[in-house]
Amino acid sequence: MTPRDPDCLFCKIVAGEIPGEVVHETETTLAFRDIQPQAPTHVLVVPKAHHPNAVATAQADPSLLVDVVLAAGRVAEQEGLVERGYRLVSNTGQDAQQSVDHLHLHVVGGRAMQWPPG
Ligand code: IMP
Repeated sequence: MTPRDPDCLFCKIVAGEIPGEVVHETETTLAFRDIQPQAPTHVLVVPKAHHPNAVATAQADPSLLVDVVLAAGRVAEQEGLVERGYRLVSNTGQDAQQSVDHLHLHVVGGRAMQWPPG
């Protein structure tokens, strides 16, 4: 059974209860555009099942984390980001400013970026 949190924003997008601009979907993952893009391409890739972060996903269902990473790679290809590169970000916890406790990989690209992040 797919774990789901009834109060989770991304579970609601996965369920179609809140609209999302979906750009890629697999049996286990969904990718949709970030509502506040930080770069020309800014897509969020989530597992359809609810897990709070990447480590929790790896502990509960390792192959699902692989599915999410591979889906992010497909999104990067679709968006034409592979040649120049892109950033995969997974904010985890308060200091990292994670605002939605459902694993999401930010696929960010289309411009040159700075390091370190703020
Ligand atoms: P976090 O801060 O790493 O947890 O990322 C959460 C992301 O979700 C932020 O970049 C938000 O802009 C994005 N976001 C919040 N609500 C929505 C929505 O309804 N659709 C798409 N993206 C959203």
